[in-house]
This record gives sequence, C-alpha cells and structure tokens, in this order.
Amino acid sequence: TDELRPDLTHPVLEAEKGHPSTPCPETGRPASCTLVIFGASGDLTARKLIPALFHLFCNGSLPQKMNIVGVARSKMTTEDFRAHAREGLEEHASGDLFRWPELAARLFYHPLEYGRLSDYLALERTLRELDEKSGTEGNRIFYLATPPSVYAVVAEQLGAVGLAEETEGSFSRIVVEKPFGRDLASARELDARMHTAFAEHQIFRIDHYLAKEMVQNILMFRFANSVFEPLWNRRYIASITCASAESLGVGHRAGYYEQAGVLRDMFQNHMMQLLALSAIEPPSLFAANRVRDEKVKLYRSLRPFDGNTLWKDLSLGQYASGKISGRAVPAYRQERGIAPDSMIPTFAMIRAYVDNWRWQGVPFYIMSGKRLPKKLTRIVIQFRDVPHSMFRNVEQGEMVPNRLVLDLAPDNGISLRFQAKMPGSKLCFRPVVMHYSFDEDADGVLLDAYAKVFLDCMLGDQLLFWRQDSVELCWGWLTPILELCEECTDLQKHLEMYPAGSWGPESCREYMECLL
Ligand code: NDP
Repeated sequence: TDELRPDLTHPVLEAEKGHPSTPCPETGRPASCTLVIFGASGDLTARKLIPALFHLFCNGSLPQKMNIVGVARSKMTTEDFRAHAREGLEEHASGDLFRWPELAARLFYHPLEYGRLSDYLALERTLRELDEKSGTEGNRIFYLATPPSVYAVVAEQLGAVGLAEETEGSFSRIVVEKPFGRDLASARELDARMHTAFAEHQIFRIDHYLAKEMVQNILMFRFANSVFEPLWNRRYIASITCASAESLGVGHRAGYYEQAGVLRDMFQNHMMQLLALSAIEPPSLFAANRVRDEKVKLYRSLRPFDGNTLWKDLSLGQYASGKISGRAVPAYRQERGIAPDSMIPTFAMIRAYVDNWRWQGVPFYIMSGKRLPKKLTRIVIQFRDVPHSMFRNVEQGEMVPNRLVLDLAPDNGISLRFQAKMPGSKLCFRPVVMHYSFDEDADGVLLDAYAKVFLDCMLGDQLLFWRQDSVELCWGWLTPILELCEECTDLQKHLEMYPAGSWGPESCREYMECLL
C-alpha cells in the first residue's frame, strides 16, 4: 500500500531556511586572444571598455595570454595610450588600481588611418609579432568603437588584408556598437559590406542593455518558474510597459543626438529588446539562435503603424529648461551643439500591439526620455481587475489590480503588488508589495554589462547580441515613425515641450507618474 510520505523530491532549500545560497561559479577562462579596439582614443574606450577589461582582469576572467591593441588616427605612443586608459579608469572605475600595471603591460597602440590599406598591412604585421611574442595563437577580436560612418570601411580593410579569415582552431570576430545603420536601407547596406569580409557567426552586434544582470534575469523569471507563465497572456495582463528614464541631458554627444534623437538612440535597440524579452514565446533551449529565433517571431508579429492614425499611438516630446534635483538645467535647444530650432525628440512613448494569439489586444507602452526626474529602467506588468469583487461591501479599501515590476536599473529587483487584509478586527484591505532584491542577493558582485559583453564575445556566445534579421525587422517597424519625424510639416504641433525634471509631456505625465 502507498504510505503517506512527505514529498522529498522538493526539499526545503537552504535559502528558504535563511542560509545564503551557493555562489554561482565563474565561467571558465576564454582562449588566448588579441583584442583590437578601433577608436581607442575615444570616450567609449576610456569610459566603458578599459574599466570593463580591468574588472575582468581583476576577477581572473581574462585569457591567460591576451594583448589589447588600441587603434586610432591620433598620434599616440603605447605609453600615451596606457596613460589615456589609466585616466579613464581613475575617472570611471571604483576600487583599487594596484593591479593596473599588470594589465597596462598588455596594452599597445597602433596609429592608423581607417581607410588606408597600407596601415592595415602594418597592423597585420604588428598582430603577428605580438602573437609570436606572447603566444596569443592568432585569435582576434576587432571592436569598433568609432563613429558608425567608419564601421564598413574598417571591416572591408580587415578583410582585404586577411585579418577576417579564420583558420582551423583560431577565430576572428568583429564587434559592432549601436547604431547599426540609421534606417532600414543603411542597416542593410552596412550589413552587406560587413559580410564581404566577415560571416554572420563572426559578427557581434552589441546591445549592452542585454548584458545587464536583471535583463538576463527576465527570461529566467518567466521561464524557470511555473507560477508566472500561465498568467503571462491577454487573459490576465491588461498592459505591459517598458520604460527607460534618464535624468541626464544630451551632454557632450550633441552631434550624435541631433542625428539620432530618442527613437534611434533608445528605441531601435534597447527598448525593442525589452519588449521582446517581456513578450516572446518560451524558447526550447537557452541557446543563442533559439532565443533569437523567438525574438524574430515576436518582431514579425508587431502590428504595423497606420499612417493615418499614428499620432494616437505616439507621443513625442523635447525637454525645456527646468530643474533636476534642485539644479537648474538648460533646455535641449540651449545645449551646446544643438540647433536653436531643433525638432529632435528627447522623449517618446509608443503604444504597440503584438498581433498573435497570446497578446491580441494588449497594449505595450514603450517609453524613453531624457531629463526626467531620475534614472530608472523598468518593465511593469499590469494585471487585469478581478472579474468580480466579493469585497465590494467592505467600507475601507480600494481594490487595485496586481502589478509586477521588474526593476532593471539602477535598482535590480522584482516586486509584486497584491491586496492584503489590514491587521485589526474590522475587515479592511490595502495593497502591499512583496519584493526581491537582486542587489542584496548579489552581495556586490554584479558583473558590469560591458564586462559581460567582452566575456561572451571571447567565449563566442552570441546570445546577448543582435542578429541581423531582428535589426532589420525593428528598423522596418519604426520606419513610419522615423519618416513622420523627418517629413511631417506640422511636427511643431505634435512635439510637446516638457520641463526638465518632470515626467515628460503633459499628455503622458499622469500615466508616467502612476507607473514610475
Ligand atoms: P567618439 O566620438 O569618442 O569617437 C571615437 C574615436 O573615433 C575618436 O577618438 C576618434 O579617434 C575617432 N573618430 C571620431 N570622429 C571620427 C570621424 N568622423 N571619422 C573617423 N574617426 C573618427 O565615440 P565614442 O567613443 O563615444 O563611441 C564610439 C561608438 O560607440 C559610437 O559608434 C557610438 O555610437 C557607440 N556608443 C558610444 C557610447 C558612449 O557612451 N560613448 C554608448 C553606446 C554606444 P581618432 O581621431 O584618434 O581616430
């Protein structure tokens, strides 16, 4: 006979008893390689790339044998480049720099004109000599940290001198920073030119948002738990919002921003990824192409915009002067390098629909803006009201629907709002919040997004990188809005000014305040 026994297949976990869980083991060390950074004299290299590499070095995650070769037009020596890198580190990295000399010894500089073939032949010789000296085995990663206008030229020249070739047992990869083109046609052209030298498996299109720990956690949350996914559909979810707010203005990137605006800067890349992660079907395996296939399916299901009614699904704004944290800040049009009559949006909110079985009729609000009160990136899952409230005769308490918030930056965590009885003899209720803090769990060991990007590229894992089909689908979907911004004669009427430090244009503010 069956004995009545407790189910031992699901023991109480150490974490449930209040003990810390076992730490996650580190990924193994990648194979030896040389990292070549184009545009090494620039902002991204100093601010993000060198600090990320130093972080990996201190963690013991860089290959045992590795060289980092900075390449740019600026006339610098290797010593100058090491000093430039150290300055960036001092300014942008926290922690002790006592191990810097060990990493600095692996840094080299090679001046080059991006379009001059003879300079690439010299680069090829330098890389070969370094390989011989350091035993780096001919593996190469070329990182394009230059303005996008140079990407295709560099790829073609690398191809011309044989640096894109992979031999048995060695790899050659190229890493491209966003933006991947400025519209569908230019994205296709860039891709075609890159493919003259590199095959798709060699091209790593970065979206550092995808490498943020909590962004990676979205798929884990959705598909490693059985309680949420059954609710993750039109029956239970009223709307999903993907929001990214920045308190910063345009800063020193005026030239770039005047060309890009918020739609090219944030939507075509980061926001589309957040949308995909919150809405895709479960991939059959956590592997690069299985996940990327699901994203493609999702992007194909996005409802195209209707040119006649587009303004019903779109709000655009531009920040006026105002105050952030008590400090007066100028309007966008008063910033250095910005045209005084610029019509570039610094805020946008799009209502999107996904025309598939799971999401029919559920609005997805995607929003991003500059000079909002604080930096905040989150996904908000708004559930539907209960179908019938048996508590409608209870005097105190207003029934609010459940809400799940995935905080992605600067805090990392998950909160669930639900109704609970208030303590006391009388029946009253109120919403309460259950919260999980990833930051506390991580105990300060969160891996920086660029460090994760480097690591995955060295390991050859493309899961966190864009595939070209997704890039093109997203450009295609956004094209009617981009054209509207560029060609609309009455954009003046639609571009709403909002004071810096407020939650965006008046028409969106109430909604934003309620969510953020
Ligand atoms: P920079 O404008 O600082 O340019 C990097 C380097 O490229 C410069 O030091 C310069 O080096 C060279 N360069 C500049 N203009 C030109 C030009 N017109 N033609 C050829 N070379 C030029 O860029 P960032 O470092 O800010 O960004 C690099 C890339 O990364 C860009 O594509 C950007 O969109 C992307 N990116 C940047 C982020 C950031 O936070 N900075 C964030 C996300 C993406 P030299 O003159 O010595 O050759």
